[in-house]
Amino acid sequence: LNAGVSQDHGAGVHVGVIDSLGEPDSDLAETFSFDHTYDYVDHDQTDPIGHGRNVFDIIATQNPNATFSTFQIIDEHETEDGTKWAGSRSDTIQAIVDAAEAGVDVLNISAGTYHDCYGFCSLCREAELAVRGDDMTIVAATGNSDNSNTRIGVHCPATNDAVIGVGGYLSHCTEPLIRGEDSGQWWLDGDEINGPFCGQNGCCSTEACLDNRREVPWPGNVSYHNAAPNVLAPVIYILGADTDSIQPQIGTSFAAPLVSGCLVGIICELQEHGITPEAEEISTSVRMSATEIDEGDCPKFDAEGTWEHLC
Ligand SMILES: [Zn+2]
Ligand SMILES: [Zn+2]
Repeated sequence: LNAGVSQDHGAGVHVGVIDSLGEPDSDLAETFSFDHTYDYVDHDQTDPIGHGRNVFDIIATQNPNATFSTFQIIDEHETEDGTKWAGSRSDTIQAIVDAAEAGVDVLNISAGTYHDCYGFCSLCREAELAVRGDDMTIVAATGNSDNSNTRIGVHCPATNDAVIGVGGYLSHCTEPLIRGEDSGQWWLDGDEINGPFCGQNGCCSTEACLDNRREVPWPGNVSYHNAAPNVLAPVIYILGADTDSIQPQIGTSFAAPLVSGCLVGIICELQEHGITPEAEEISTSVRMSATEIDEGDCPKFDAEGTWEHLC
């Protein structure tokens, strides 16, 4: 059995994405199988900001045969600081209820709100009910810090114990930057994302990556004064890697769907072997099998460990 590598690519698993992605355009609809699309906002665009589409792509690329439902909650709001794209708490709650009712197996929430409820607000309670009562696995981003306010903590519903809260980490390569075609490292010139980062597959010809990798918490993680992430996952998502216009995206929004995507693959593969773990067992396995990184107290997600724990 291969850890988390589903030969059926997610077939038989129902994935929900609460984000900015709504009714799929014809391209998406032809490529992937959609069960429901739920719309809680006023505009009628497929994805007004592209955020949900990126999150969706991270999960769908790994699991093209899964069934998807989208829950479009992110809309334009007028605030004191101008317009802001965000989801309201009531819409997020309703989307969780609807996802559970639709029979979603794995729900990704790369959105959330921060306030000091310590995991006990209405949003958190609804998420907990969906995990324990409706057997729906929920993976949520812990949020990104805002330079203006260092007190920003882990966002809800990631604060809740039943939800798998995902923060971010970076994999540095400890070798000096190797410029050139044969370098396995990656970096970006003139950007906040400097590197060199580990390419995970032989950065330099002489030594193994494992010996030259330094994994550290992402500096943009929120403060953990109210809750801690359950696991960390890679936080940089590169758009357009195969084109001339590379656009790095960074944030826990892109770490959470990596975990969701792996879990969909694991669940699919387990189902093929007649094993159907409950959502609570899945979140326990994710926690128990998480492995240390080089700095900090938060461990990283370990797909292979999670798989073995569930077998
Ligand atoms: Zn809360
Ligand atoms: Zn490397």
